[in-house]
Amino acid sequence: MTTTQPLDVQPTPLALLLLGRESDPRSERGVECPGDLPAPSDPDLVERARAAKARLGDRVFILGHHYQRDEVIEFADVTGDSFKLARDAAGRPEAEYIVFCGVHFMAESADILTSERQQVILPDLAAGCSMADMASAEQVAECWDVLAEAGVADVTVPVSYMNSSADIKSFTGRHGGTICTSSNARRALEWAFSRGEKVLFLPDQHLGRNTAVRDMGFSLDDCVVYNPHKPNGGLTVEQLRAAKMILWRGHCSVHGRFSLESVEDVRARIPGVNVLVHPECKHEVVAAADYVGSTEHIITMLDEAPAGSAWALGTELNLVRRLANAHPDKQIVFLDKTVCFCSTMNRIDLPHLVWTLESLADGKLVNRIQVDAETEHFAKLALEQMLALP
Ligand code: SF4
Repeated sequence: MTTTQPLDVQPTPLALLLLGRESDPRSERGVECPGDLPAPSDPDLVERARAAKARLGDRVFILGHHYQRDEVIEFADVTGDSFKLARDAAGRPEAEYIVFCGVHFMAESADILTSERQQVILPDLAAGCSMADMASAEQVAECWDVLAEAGVADVTVPVSYMNSSADIKSFTGRHGGTICTSSNARRALEWAFSRGEKVLFLPDQHLGRNTAVRDMGFSLDDCVVYNPHKPNGGLTVEQLRAAKMILWRGHCSVHGRFSLESVEDVRARIPGVNVLVHPECKHEVVAAADYVGSTEHIITMLDEAPAGSAWALGTELNLVRRLANAHPDKQIVFLDKTVCFCSTMNRIDLPHLVWTLESLADGKLVNRIQVDAETEHFAKLALEQMLALP
């Protein structure tokens, strides 16, 4: 369980949540900003952010996820993926305030990994993650009951992607599992299969399937998809007993959009193009790509690519644009023709950052993300297990 301050909000229909107008406190989706945001048109926003950051000095450490807007990244003390950023924050114990320009589950992970003295702040509480929202604690507990009734829970090891709520990480730790990132998913699965016969992979079905099938030689038939919206996950006892990989029915709303057609289309448009995609993409997209890798891997590959080479990237658009700007000697295009920002990540904008920094500089703690002690204890077990992976 996570507490956020303040949270005096009421559930509303999804249409309003998507506009960020109100909130659903049961999920990571939308809540109103509790303060007076500066107008986006304020010409002094950059100067105000600089001044507030200077007033805070070493007391604040700003983390910027790779998918953030440029206007926010400009103020980040460090950039990276969610796990790297959480570790960077833990490595700055003098920073009392960790301002996480990312999404809710990332701020939770930072709170779990940082000291009690450090307070983690999410500039906009509406910055959730649709993938993390696809697996609630209640749904996952019910799934475990279904596995127990099928007689397979004892031989199943949960492996949860970093992109999950603290509750799901805690469930994983309670049941002897591990967390993984997109960089170490294979090692996590190998470890899990050395301890059990099956893996329950949460919450991204694509990362689980791609790792098992593409990297480890499992067949698609070894995988089943557990749908939390159907009785018994939509699976028979026989299917659960036969499966090696029980994949949660979750996906990333950004990476899940890339299609086989977009790969075929870019190959027709740019002869010789290298297609490089994130493993959160669908299996057919990953199978058709030339290279597959985590965000950090994509950045490194582009750094090392020869001048004149052409690349189509299947990942978040802010990152693709920054990479294209950083490598004018290479042709770097977005894999899909349509715009594909992470809309919730993009909730963190300059007005929210200015409001957060000015509030902190004035001694007012806002939008703190705090994981309760019991959830933190078991989530930490699962995170520590990831750090100990062979
Ligand atoms: S890119 Fe996908 S997984 Fe990452 S925060 Fe956005 S919705 Fe979640």
